[in-house]
Amino acid sequence: MPWISRGARVVTTRWPRRADQYADRFPATVSPTSAFASPEMAEVCPTGAIRVDDDQVRVDRGRCILCGRCVRHFPRHFRFTPGSEIARLARDALVVPELDKTDGAVRAVRDELSARTRALRRSVHIRHIDVGSDGADEWEVLALLNPIYDVHRLGIFFTASPRHADILLVTGVGTRGMREPLARTLDALPRPCVVIAAGTDAISGGLVHPTYATHGGIADLVPVDVWVPGSPPTPFSLLHGILLAIGRMSS
Ligand code: SF4
Repeated sequence: MPWISRGARVVTTRWPRRADQYADRFPATVSPTSAFASPEMAEVCPTGAIRVDDDQVRVDRGRCILCGRCVRHFPRHFRFTPGSEIARLARDALVVPELDKTDGAVRAVRDELSARTRALRRSVHIRHIDVGSDGADEWEVLALLNPIYDVHRLGIFFTASPRHADILLVTGVGTRGMREPLARTLDALPRPCVVIAAGTDAISGGLVHPTYATHGGIADLVPVDVWVPGSPPTPFSLLHGILLAIGRMSS
């Protein structure tokens, strides 16, 4: 059928084998762009993602919800940064400019993860669990299955059963009610397995600070291997995190 080959050729992205225009242009993160630092910069950020220490301004992408307030208030000092390869193997590696200790920490994590996931390189199954999301992350996770992203072509599948899964993909801030189900789901995964914190909410809670009902992200609940920032993260960013988790991309 000609329409099948046309769909495969024209619609489906070739990423990650070849750069994709949409992925490369998407404003997925925020970066400081100058050496200028003022305490007012931290004040405009609703999530505490901007830190000003010793005249150095840093953005913690694990806290950034991409609201754009810093870019609007300080257009010469912050900008949206395009690109989708934004997942990282260490929580500290989400801070820009990079902290001194980050490089060594990431290398150690990459070596350990690479040894642990050697058996998962060819084909993996993912169990997704929502532990208190607003629903935005789930739209992006679902999009991974549509003809544009089509993760099946990369040997990546979703499964309803944690017993068949290699990767636990977690979205949401981590409600206290989901603490136990999350732990039980992780227990049910066969080893080796990988845990991905997908989205700013799962990484830090985003706008939601710890309360009687919520944690500030999932790091206190389960050991996280890969961190995918974004509010929500794009399908390309999620895909980058998955490929990073199984060692099919190195950074
Ligand atoms: S985009 Fe919003 S959340 Fe992100 S660093 Fe700027 S002000 Fe903070």
